[in-house]
Amino acid sequence: MTLPKIVVLGMGGTIAGVSPRPGDDRHYLAGQVPVAQLTESLPGAPVPARLMTEQVAQIDSKDIEPALWWRLRARVLDWLAKPDVAGVVITHGTDTLEETAYFLSATVSTDKPVVLTCAMRPATSTAPDGPRNLRDALTVALTPGARGVVVVCAGEVHSAREVQKHHTQRLDAFVSGNRGPLGAIVSDRFEIARDWPTTPDFSSSGDIENIVNVSMWPRVDIVTSHAGADGRVVDALVAHGVDGLVVAGTGNGTLHSALADALWRASASGVAVWISTRCAQGGVNLHDDSAWPGTGDLNPVKARIALALELMGWSAHCAPFWR
Ligand code: ASP
Repeated sequence: MTLPKIVVLGMGGTIAGVSPRPGDDRHYLAGQVPVAQLTESLPGAPVPARLMTEQVAQIDSKDIEPALWWRLRARVLDWLAKPDVAGVVITHGTDTLEETAYFLSATVSTDKPVVLTCAMRPATSTAPDGPRNLRDALTVALTPGARGVVVVCAGEVHSAREVQKHHTQRLDAFVSGNRGPLGAIVSDRFEIARDWPTTPDFSSSGDIENIVNVSMWPRVDIVTSHAGADGRVVDALVAHGVDGLVVAGTGNGTLHSALADALWRASASGVAVWISTRCAQGGVNLHDDSAWPGTGDLNPVKARIALALELMGWSAHCAPFWR
C-alpha cells in the first residue's frame, strides 16, 4: 500500500529556534533549524506517511509581511493541487500564527487539510515542545476527512478563525474563545469534538487572483479605546492617508467619546472603520443602529486582515458578522 504524502513547509519560529546555551529557553534566535531537520526525530509511533519538506521562509514570525503570506499561499496551493499530496503542515512562529492561519483560511479553498504548528521552546531546549507538536500536526493532517486550516499546539486543535495566542510563556499558549478547540490529540489519534472548519466557496466571489501578490496592501491600522483616549492617533493616521481602521474597543465594542468623535471625522473623509474589541473573548455583538460594522468573533489582528482584503475587493469569506 502506498502511504499518503504530506508536505511540511517551514516558516521559521521558535520551533526552529536555537539558543547559544543549550537548555536556555529564553534567549535564543527563532528560525534557525532547517525544516527537513525538524522532521527527522519525531516522538511517538512512526508517521504513516511519506514526508516531503520545503523551506518557504526562515524568520521570527513577528516580522512577517503580506508578501510572504502570498508566497506561502502559492506554495500551499501548488502542493495541494498534486493528487498524491494528502495535506500540508506548516511550522511557524507563535507570535503571528493566528494571522497567517486566518489569512490562509480566507484565501485558500481546499478539501484537504492545512495544519499549522509551532513551539514555545526552541529546538535546543532540554524539553522541546516542537517535536510533539509537529508529530500531532501530522496526525491531524492524516486524519480521515481532515480539511480546512487548523492550528495544533500542546495537544489541542483550533480552527483558524477562532484561534488566538493568549499566553506569553505557557506551552498551551493558544485558546479558541467561546467555542473551545476543535478537539484534542490523544495517543496519536485526533479526537474531533466539532466539525472541520469550512473552506471558502470561491465560485461566487470574484477572482482572488486579481489581488494575489499585491505587496502594497491598503493601509489598515488598529487603534485602541482606553482611558484618556483623545483620538489624536486617529487624526494623525488620517493625515497620513490611512485607508481603514480597526478599533479595539472596550467591552462589547464601546468607544471613548473623544475617540468616537475622531472616528466620525475619519469616516467622513472616506476611511473604512470596523469595530472589534480589546477583550480576549466574546467578540462584539453591536446594536442595529451602530455607527460602524462590528467584527463579530474576529479579533483586531484578524479583522485587520479581513478589512485589508475587503478594501482590495476580496470579501467573499472574510466579511465579519455585521452588527
Ligand atoms: N518570536 C517567535 C516567532 O513568532 C515566537 C515563537 O515562535 O514562539 O517566531
